[in-house]
Amino acid sequence: MKPKLLLLHVGGTIGMRPSDRGYSPCPGFLSQQIERTPEFHHPEMPTFELIETSPLLDSSNMTPSDWLPIAETIQEHYHDFDGFVVVHGTDTMAFTASALPLMLRGLRKPVILTGSQIPLCEIRNDARENLITAMLIAGYHRVPEVCIYFNGKLFRGCRSTKVSAHRFDAFDSPNYPLLGVAGTSIEINESMLLPSLESNQALQVQRLTTPNIGTLRLFPGITAPVVEHFLNQPLEGLVLEAFGSGNIPSNNRPLLDLLRQAYDRGVVVVAVTQCGHGKVSFASYETGQAMAEVGVLCGYDMTVEAALTKLFYLHSLGLDKQQIREMVGQNLVGELTR
Ligand code: ASP
Repeated sequence: MKPKLLLLHVGGTIGMRPSDRGYSPCPGFLSQQIERTPEFHHPEMPTFELIETSPLLDSSNMTPSDWLPIAETIQEHYHDFDGFVVVHGTDTMAFTASALPLMLRGLRKPVILTGSQIPLCEIRNDARENLITAMLIAGYHRVPEVCIYFNGKLFRGCRSTKVSAHRFDAFDSPNYPLLGVAGTSIEINESMLLPSLESNQALQVQRLTTPNIGTLRLFPGITAPVVEHFLNQPLEGLVLEAFGSGNIPSNNRPLLDLLRQAYDRGVVVVAVTQCGHGKVSFASYETGQAMAEVGVLCGYDMTVEAALTKLFYLHSLGLDKQQIREMVGQNLVGELTR
């Protein structure tokens, strides 16, 4: 029996059509292209059904409310398919791939997000390879988690980030090894996958509310008034992109006082590093200790995407601030290493 896949097309370059305003989504266009491309119907390919969401979106237009229909469609069809491929724009793919593992609790089947830098309709494109290999992985490999497949690499979704606006090699997973590599053969790095779930519990979808969450990147000379404005109500959670291993100008007392006041008002502030690679460790420097002293939480090696979606998730669970603060540094779905 051939595996059966659900392709869920939500938008992105891969299925776009050129227009006089640049590439834009076009209903039915990707399925037409797939229909006309013989490789998708090769006997070695899994069988598949394609569902297209309406409207199709450039992923720059997506919001957290667009993640829910993806999770719900997977839940609705969970028992009918062996795996799921989410065809998505690259711009915010890493955010969706970070949110879905939190939203899909009890997932035991592959959910592979993919897209491309050039649409499938163009003669030179990366769409064909990305989509075909994502389908082969979702159909034939036991990868029971949310991943991104792009340019020969399989990444854990909640560890991934977009690193290039134009290279085919558009994604990276700076703090976690690849889950797989597609070269002459497809090799899955089994030891890096999430452990299989014991129980046969049903797939649950956690809805996300839309709390007021933000990100702020520190830079030399950032002023207290700018930060004050940012920290003002209605902010509930903040991902603070700190220097190096989680450092802040500790000689800027007004800045530290503002963070302390935000803590006292219940704002959950989590520090991640603004470096492409590495983790937060407040103990390394006096400028890091200053963070801990004003109540900023350590985000360890989370990407901005993972930290931000985790704040959305934790604020959606109906927890009190103390419980949220305790869970920020816990590894929930493979998104951090302490
Ligand atoms: N703007 C597009 C999107 O994210 C870019 C892409 O898909 O590569 O939907």
